[in-house]
Amino acid sequence: MYDFVVVGVGPAGARFSRRAAERGYDVLALEKGEIGTPLACSGHVSTDIWSITGPGAREELFQNEIYGARFHVGGPQSRAYPFYKREVASNVIDRVGLDRHLADLAREAGADVRDGYTVTGVTEHRDGVEVVANGPDGTETVESKLVAGCDGPRSRVREELELPQPDELLHGVLAFSEEEDHQDFVDVHLTAPTFFAWRIPRGDAGVEYGLAAPPGVQVTRHFEELIDGYEIDVSHRCSGAIPIGPPERVTSSRGFLIGDAAGQTKPFTGGGILYGTTAADHAAREIDPDRPETVVDYERAWRNDLSRDQRLGHLLRQAYSLPEPVQRIGLRALSGEIGVHMDRPTSLVSPAHLRALVSRLRP
Ligand SMILES: Cc1cc2nc3c(=O)[nH]c(=O)nc-3n(C[C@H](O)[C@H](O)[C@H](O)COP(=O)(O)OP(=O)(O)OC[C@H]3O[C@@H](n4cnc5c(N)ncnc54)[C@H](O)[C@@H]3O)c2cc1C
Repeated sequence: MYDFVVVGVGPAGARFSRRAAERGYDVLALEKGEIGTPLACSGHVSTDIWSITGPGAREELFQNEIYGARFHVGGPQSRAYPFYKREVASNVIDRVGLDRHLADLAREAGADVRDGYTVTGVTEHRDGVEVVANGPDGTETVESKLVAGCDGPRSRVREELELPQPDELLHGVLAFSEEEDHQDFVDVHLTAPTFFAWRIPRGDAGVEYGLAAPPGVQVTRHFEELIDGYEIDVSHRCSGAIPIGPPERVTSSRGFLIGDAAGQTKPFTGGGILYGTTAADHAAREIDPDRPETVVDYERAWRNDLSRDQRLGHLLRQAYSLPEPVQRIGLRALSGEIGVHMDRPTSLVSPAHLRALVSRLRP
């Protein structure tokens, strides 16, 4: 019997598998497709990403560095309100490569990571969990002390364990143009209802255009308007879901969710790579497979760490729905140098941010 069966090998599953294997646990990680594909993510992350990667990662994955964002209330021709830091705020990275890199680290730590296995059933028993998967050789059943649902926004494990859904699933779309662009600003357009559209320069890898909005909104129409505004041809269109939550509970008697499955995203950007991997570290540290009741310690630990930022993130998102004249006044008043950490809205009251505000007052 395994200590943990991990379902899904995205950033959250790979990170948890690595950390649990490093603690000496017997870990089997099952990924339904080929690790890293299909792409449905911008890979725009704070520089903290390099704290969870291994040697050589930056050379392999780095595409561009970003100092700030230009906000627009309308399309590309509308006025830009820049928010920026003096140092690099974030990096744009190869997201497919990141998943493969994190999965390799999990393997090196001793986890048995397999792709081509789709988990279709999870049953909790008093003394363990049965996980059913369709693999290359047909249907297999594996037994484990606990199951980790790291299987993304439409989590099968969440459904099987009858855990609550996140409040909302946004629909995100992406496409790429081939223009080389090493600019160090992203553009954010507050044109999509309750969310936004974006342009991300990816260095030699071209430029990404994207948009996310709630279901029911005509995402494609808004996306076409964005592309038309930039007067650019795009290809490689892809899409994915962004969970906004989190749900009130992400643990059961022998199961727990991490990452998008648990709604561990930033409500004001939809970014989830660093929240998911941070929560994975809490899970590996807190959960003892021989004491399944320790899932409660994980639930407490990740919420203690992330829930204040998530609550503040919800508040920030409300600004996307303000009337346009109010948005313009707010952006004009607040734009300029900032000291905020892109993953931590609570850093709005940090010394770094206050210093940045004071520096604007200097002649
Ligand atoms: C358009 C878009 C842009 C985004 N941009 C950013 C960004 O710039 N920065 C950022 O931080 N975040 C971004 N995100 C969010 C980010 O992609 C997610 O938060 C992140 O991928 C979550 O990681 P995860 O490991 O929890 O889930 P995932 O990355 O979704 O991984 C889940 C894995 O589980 C596998 N799986 C699913 N079901 C099964 C099953 N039944 N059996 C076995 N395996 C299964 C999937 O194939 C997948 O590999 C974006 C999302 C979207 C949609």
